[in-house]
Amino acid sequence: MFFFISKLRAKIINLLCRGNFFSLMVRTLKHIVWIGCFLGFSAITFTSQAKPTFWQSLTSPIDGLSESIGGYSNGCIIGAKPLNNNSEHYQILRMQNNRYYGHPELIRYIEDFTNRVNMKSLGWVLIGDMSMPGGGRFDSGHASHQSGLDVDIWLQLPKSPWHEEKLKHPTPLSLVNDDNRTIIKEKWQKSIYDLIKIAASDERVARIFVNPAIKKQLCIDATLFGENDRTWLRNVRPWHYHQYHMHIRLNCPVGEPDCQNQAPIPAGDGCGNELESWFNPKEKSTNENQTDDKQNKTPAIPERCELIRQHFSE
Ligand SMILES: [Zn+2]
Repeated sequence: MFFFISKLRAKIINLLCRGNFFSLMVRTLKHIVWIGCFLGFSAITFTSQAKPTFWQSLTSPIDGLSESIGGYSNGCIIGAKPLNNNSEHYQILRMQNNRYYGHPELIRYIEDFTNRVNMKSLGWVLIGDMSMPGGGRFDSGHASHQSGLDVDIWLQLPKSPWHEEKLKHPTPLSLVNDDNRTIIKEKWQKSIYDLIKIAASDERVARIFVNPAIKKQLCIDATLFGENDRTWLRNVRPWHYHQYHMHIRLNCPVGEPDCQNQAPIPAGDGCGNELESWFNPKEKSTNENQTDDKQNKTPAIPERCELIRQHFSE
């Protein structure tokens, strides 16, 4: 920029000395337009990069008795615990993002769930994002995962543990065709069905979000396998994306009055008309909010989370 300005100044002096004033005006105008474009472009580039939230600056959990505050898509967590990274049953993906914290209830759930998966010799469970150390809002990506009760589990079950570099930069494996209506038959395996069933067969679970095509396949397979008990299927809810991971959400832990549960799930296994409506955009149900979707407006954060934010911002 300095170079450009000094060059411009030299040009002005040069033109003035030659007395070509009209030419000077035209050229100056051109340069003003050019500078305007440059500044405008810089402003656009700058503002398009979302500013990290306060919650992303927290590097360790907030001291105190563990407690989830607020809702899944607007909350925070006190006394979160990191998931143990030394397990024989699971591996944590992208640890460099520092999103492996959760309520102790979630930590226990993950340990129990992955233990059951291991007992069936299904493979290594890959743990995706949980919450940041204090929970709270992300600047991009997730809208939920804010109160320490959500975890993404990838729909891949490697038979041997991944090496460090692969864990840092894992490749997602979509199980859904580009039409977003059917699963990719060659990639769908009984072990993935079992993985989702084990995850959903736990009373701590509030909901598990999967792509509608995956839910549909689970419904088909449950019938095929002659499942007598389909109650677990009810917990598995169709939602946008989620073609390479399932999103597990736990109920609020007992005795935490500031933790907000979602509305109860409608009755039934969710395999009928409600699921079909997802394949017909005009009818699509939109009442199950609070997932990974970007929300249009940002609500005010719960008072106790705001007090924490102010305390650390002082
Ligand atoms: Zn998620």
